[in-house]
Amino acid sequence: MFAAMAAPVNNPDHGFCRDCLTFQRGETRRCERCGSPRLARHPELYRLHLAHIDCDAFYAAIEKRDNPALKDRPVIVGGGKRGVVSTACYIARIHGVRSAMPMFKALEACPEAVVIPPDMEKYVRVGREVRALMQALTPLVEPLSIDEAFLDLSGTERLHGMPPAVVLARFALTVEKELGITVSAGLSYCKFLAKVASDFRKPRGLSVIGEAEALGFLAEQPVTLIWGVGKAFAASLECDGIRTIGQLQRMERGDLMRRYGVMGDRLYHLSRGEDDRRVHPDSDAKSVSAETTFDTDISAMAELVPVLRALSEKVSARLKKSGIAGRTVVLKLKTQDFKLRTRNRQLGDPTRLADRIFQTGLDLLRRQADGTKYRLLGIGVSDLSDDEKADPPDLVDIQSRKRALAEGAIDTLRGKFGKKAVETGYTFGKGRSANPPEPIED
Ligand SMILES: [Mg+2]
Repeated sequence: MFAAMAAPVNNPDHGFCRDCLTFQRGETRRCERCGSPRLARHPELYRLHLAHIDCDAFYAAIEKRDNPALKDRPVIVGGGKRGVVSTACYIARIHGVRSAMPMFKALEACPEAVVIPPDMEKYVRVGREVRALMQALTPLVEPLSIDEAFLDLSGTERLHGMPPAVVLARFALTVEKELGITVSAGLSYCKFLAKVASDFRKPRGLSVIGEAEALGFLAEQPVTLIWGVGKAFAASLECDGIRTIGQLQRMERGDLMRRYGVMGDRLYHLSRGEDDRRVHPDSDAKSVSAETTFDTDISAMAELVPVLRALSEKVSARLKKSGIAGRTVVLKLKTQDFKLRTRNRQLGDPTRLADRIFQTGLDLLRRQADGTKYRLLGIGVSDLSDDEKADPPDLVDIQSRKRALAEGAIDTLRGKFGKKAVETGYTFGKGRSANPPEPIED
């Protein structure tokens, strides 16, 4: 279909049909072959290779797929203990429902919505299926979350017999057909703009931002479009009178760095569409962590410690399962007023043991137990390596060596009789078995 048309493909006026994937010569508004209005056209369409793919209303789309009676109804996935919206389908969004909205507000906006509690296991399974289809396109897939990833499709034209833009359109059709959900894709020359583009025309979008238009496009946008500019930072930029990316484009690099440090450097480059970060296929494994959000905010060590223990065991189990270890232990706390505190400590050698993760985390936690109320606690390890050099017995002190041996025995028992078979003194009977938090996605 497309391979035969490779020759005229670089003509900037020419596009293709996203439904039948045929090449389009003319300027018609509908496909010359199948009549579809979904045509892709862009002067740089066949030169760009950096893609960002994001599933549309992922959790809600899966629930609709699995229960066709929900197809035309507003669906909200969420509820749970925090009582917030995880994902709203596009019908619910028309009524004003948004991710992270408290459920009572969502139901005020859309009383007829069907609320479904999240089934994370199912979503993870579908996420893996999507990922597998991505990896069939290129080995350079960098997942950002359960339902989105960067793909570097450079050099794949010969393999696929079509340019990256068409590969993306074909991928979207495949996901629809095989998995019953939809995706949106952004195509550009860098990560920053590929991600921006994928968000443009959801659902079922395919958007392109070329090099020639980057500066002009960005000039019009608010600073919050820039990666890392959250509410707080946007507020401080606003204090300095900066609202649009265009204003940043007119500022000197030195000036930006003096005012905003390393972030100033990022602002300087990204505002100009300069982003040379590569697609790293393994970055989903930069750290392994687990966290939990509490039903009510907690300040007492007596309550925090069992949670820390349970989470450490969870992190350790994942490390052991993947045959990896981490050298830096990272403690994460979120205060009642949503301030994030992270504290980390580098160990002498990598670990995969729950007890070392826990003891290190405990030490970090003690320094933060100053009466502050926390709404979230997380623990994890970064600086990952494979577990070959992890926890050398001769370097670990006698006490921890004993614990390491005990942990080995516990692992064996759990392997035989299931996770619940052995509870340590820290978690026993506490009833807080660190359930996975419900992530917010859209
Ligand atoms: Mg998504």
